[in-house]
Amino acid sequence: MTTGPATQIDTLLAETRLFDPPAEFAAAAHISSLDEYRKLYDRSINDRDAFWSEVASELTWFKQWDGVFQRDGHRFRWFDGGATNLSFNCVDRHLSSGTRNKAALIWEGEDGEQRVLRYHDLYREVCRFANGLKSLGVGAGDRVGIYMPLVPELAIAMLACARIGAVHSVVFGGFSAEAVRDRMVDAQARVVVTADGGLRRGGVVALKANVDSAVEAADCVEKVVVFKRLGNEVAWDDSRDIWWHDLVADQPLDCPPADVAAEDPLFILYTSGTTGKPKGVLHTTGGYMVGCYLSTKLIFDLKDQDTFWCTADIGWVTGHSYVVYGPLLNGATSVMFEGALNWPEPDRIWAVAERYAVSILYTAPTAIRSFIRSGNQWPEKHDLGSLRLLGTVGEPINPEAWIWYHEVIGGGRCPIVDTWWQTETGSIMISPLPGATPTKPGSATLPFFGCEPDVVDSDGSSVAPGAGGFLVMKNPPPSMARTLYGDEERYQLEYWSRYQEQGWYFAGDGARRDEDGYYWVLGRVDDVINVSGHRLGTMEVESALVSHPTVAEAAVVGRPDDLKGTAIVAFVTLKAGQQPGDEAAATLREQVVKEIGALARPDEIRFADALPKTRSGKIMRRLLRDIAQGSTTTGDTTTLEDLSVLATLRGDEEE
Ligand code: ATP
Ligand code: MG
Repeated sequence: MTTGPATQIDTLLAETRLFDPPAEFAAAAHISSLDEYRKLYDRSINDRDAFWSEVASELTWFKQWDGVFQRDGHRFRWFDGGATNLSFNCVDRHLSSGTRNKAALIWEGEDGEQRVLRYHDLYREVCRFANGLKSLGVGAGDRVGIYMPLVPELAIAMLACARIGAVHSVVFGGFSAEAVRDRMVDAQARVVVTADGGLRRGGVVALKANVDSAVEAADCVEKVVVFKRLGNEVAWDDSRDIWWHDLVADQPLDCPPADVAAEDPLFILYTSGTTGKPKGVLHTTGGYMVGCYLSTKLIFDLKDQDTFWCTADIGWVTGHSYVVYGPLLNGATSVMFEGALNWPEPDRIWAVAERYAVSILYTAPTAIRSFIRSGNQWPEKHDLGSLRLLGTVGEPINPEAWIWYHEVIGGGRCPIVDTWWQTETGSIMISPLPGATPTKPGSATLPFFGCEPDVVDSDGSSVAPGAGGFLVMKNPPPSMARTLYGDEERYQLEYWSRYQEQGWYFAGDGARRDEDGYYWVLGRVDDVINVSGHRLGTMEVESALVSHPTVAEAAVVGRPDDLKGTAIVAFVTLKAGQQPGDEAAATLREQVVKEIGALARPDEIRFADALPKTRSGKIMRRLLRDIAQGSTTTGDTTTLEDLSVLATLRGDEEE
């Protein structure tokens, strides 16, 4: 859709519910009023260097930076000339206070095993593993692949890399051998850290076997370190493989943190692949650290006594920034859970939240919709009274899912932070501050400090309040990615070429900004549907469908149509016990007309038990588009969660 006559996106949804931060929450919050937010925000833009200097100074630097921010087109530097160490800031910094003996990580395995690592325990484990990596010859700038289950050693391996200035590239433990190979080759990893296996829905994921076949075709990999998670049989190559416990056995308990320059690379991470082939996003050290630190502290209103649980896998950026780096930079307690949130029963997530008295829960709309689908009896079995704040990320949240989350999980008392950001932005860019920002279901609300988003038309003019357009960022905040690893050209093309003249970052998402300056993400620009001269984002039509009490989830795509130009096809998953059929389809068509108007009435409703999603749980509309058109899938499917979903959907079509 990147070309075409229309220059804006039309918007239809009128969500008017408003939720003020509860007075008690606001009174105790880091930022307690909209006024306070606005003053600080203003300063973060208009007195940028002073603002970020102060934030950065809350962390430890070995050498002070020369300049806060420099920029030349799409190349920019933060805290240039400064030197620090992310591992030191996440761990060592807390050893001289009472935090030393506080839980850094609370871990639960899928099999129910539990482990708690205090900050001091984490320090020792990170140092030992860092020394182990050094003994394998890993040095500053070397790439280390990490392909592990969600165990504490995954965080330890990341922190150990950061400690010695090596660059980690975490690959989600659910990916195939081919996906591991592609990423290792692309990053030219010298070492891969894995485990003998991981647990997923009661089965064993053969991580080591996948690595074995991946490295056969990845000559760059010299050593494979294997953490013993399960004790199952694995094939072994003495010249290449080494057990984690053997590697660290005789290592010193201390490892001095390397002096890492602010702009030295920290990690490479591949995007979800929702819109196409995954991109190897490269983040550097200083800016990422500062962005993660501040966003975690203020957006989650993090306090010393909190127990923070971000349910994302560390294979995604959300896990990097809000399971590992953000919470640890703040000296917080972070919960890590290995398994699937709905296994062995749909209430596993609520059982874990209750068990550790989680106070801040951060999850994804796709998970929330699946909990809605399985029914309220599951959360109702648990005491969720410890929760005080809820968050979501990953996709636009449909207003009805937001309301459910607020009422059923938050008991009506917990603010919700709907956080918009991307692998590329490193940390949250648009979000409420829970003690300050009145929230509207479905809106990510206002920009975080230092972020200058705008909604513009194809010429770059800001669209009027209420109108839709393209989401851009006018200046790169500290945690913004610096390049795509080994592919500067694609980086420039993908993000900086569309508004090159203005020097803006183009996020790839459509959005609307309302009269209060609130941002509503409308979905991906690639997914916009062109109907009779109107351009509709998918989120609004999907939300209209999800607002019907029988619907759990919906994905809307366009199909070329001789008469209308484009017909709207909706794929709908019903809640448990609901009957699909012509009658249901007619009802849902009318629901869309009633909610947002006749223009958006779906021409076709297809019922499906499951929608194609990425491994991170995002709906892949580009695959549904192929199915709706009856064409075979041509795009990249390497990050697809379940291939059989596509087969089923295609099979439906032949009936
Ligand atoms: P790829 O770039 O490879 O297609 P991806 O964009 O899905 O993959 P991520 O970086 O994981 O990879 O996801 C970022 C995207 O997720 C955003 O651009 C946006 O479309 C969506 N997103 C994230 N958070 C929100 C949110 N709170 N509201 C609406 N959309 C969101
Ligand atoms: Mg993206």
